[in-house]
Amino acid sequence: MKKIEHIGIAVKNLEASNLLFEKLLGVSNYKMEEVLSEGVKTSFFKSGPNKIELLEASNENSPIAKYIEKRGEGVHHIAFEVDDIISEMARLQKEGFQLLSDKPKKGADNKLVAFVHPKSCNGVLVELCQEAP
Ligand code: ZN
Repeated sequence: MKKIEHIGIAVKNLEASNLLFEKLLGVSNYKMEEVLSEGVKTSFFKSGPNKIELLEASNENSPIAKYIEKRGEGVHHIAFEVDDIISEMARLQKEGFQLLSDKPKKGADNKLVAFVHPKSCNGVLVELCQEAP
């Protein structure tokens, strides 16, 4: 894995959180994007070289809605950038990590993404992401 690509934060109200993070970071978000397949609306901020992704559920079956119901708002996942998501998924599987999908999916921000189950990673939801070709 190359670096932390972004940190994902689950929020109840994206509009309100956009204002909050704008105040916190001193910059406006640079992009908003809805990922229909995942049931999320996202908003991206830059802090120096780092990125923060705010996630709001766009329907009640969204994984974000379920997460907030169970655990409240807060840090939802850590995303790592990889060069080759297929081989990284295979490597992690071999190491005993449980992946949430067999194949990468199309995520926000023009990325191919896959997730490692938090149960197999000390309670942390890990996202792998690769720039989509
Ligand atoms: Zn993410």
